[in-house]
Amino acid sequence: MVQKGFKMKLPLAYYGNPILRKKCQDVEEITEEIRQLVSDMAETVAEQNGIGLAAPQVKSNLRIFITKVPLPSKDDPDQLEEGKIKVYINAKLTDPSPESWERDEGCLSIPKIYVPVVRPYRIKVEAMDLKGKVFTEELEGLEARVVMHENDHVNGVLMIDRIENKLRKEIEKDLRKIKKRLGHM
Ligand SMILES: [Zn+2]
Repeated sequence: MVQKGFKMKLPLAYYGNPILRKKCQDVEEITEEIRQLVSDMAETVAEQNGIGLAAPQVKSNLRIFITKVPLPSKDDPDQLEEGKIKVYINAKLTDPSPESWERDEGCLSIPKIYVPVVRPYRIKVEAMDLKGKVFTEELEGLEARVVMHENDHVNGVLMIDRIENKLRKEIEKDLRKIKKRLGHM
């Protein structure tokens, strides 16, 4: 029995687990289970010091992801404030900007691997929140990047699919090790 409102850290799915390669399904209705899942995902991302987490990473095949991106403080733009949890359900990404940028990405499901990924600088997002309300926003920079990384997850796509072949070959051995050690989890 799980007590209502009790937050639980969830076990992660690691590279090699087939759930990370499946296309997730739309959420039809915000139920108590969905609220619990999102609350547990928030607990998990905080515990892991992550800046984003998608449902397949905690072995659910629903189109849900959350972000927790640190942003510059309003009082002092040189300081970063701890990110607030944002929830994206059934997200649709449109209008990627022609400008793109490259930055190293990591992934909680592919521990200790960091690879440079080129992504558009800006993106539009339409998604549903936990109240079932549809919202739209335009994101840029790191926030846009995290949303694109997480949205890839609900489509079964990983950051290592978006790097050059040469680099993919270079990290293949490390990927195989992760698969062998953690892929069954
Ligand atoms: Zn990831």
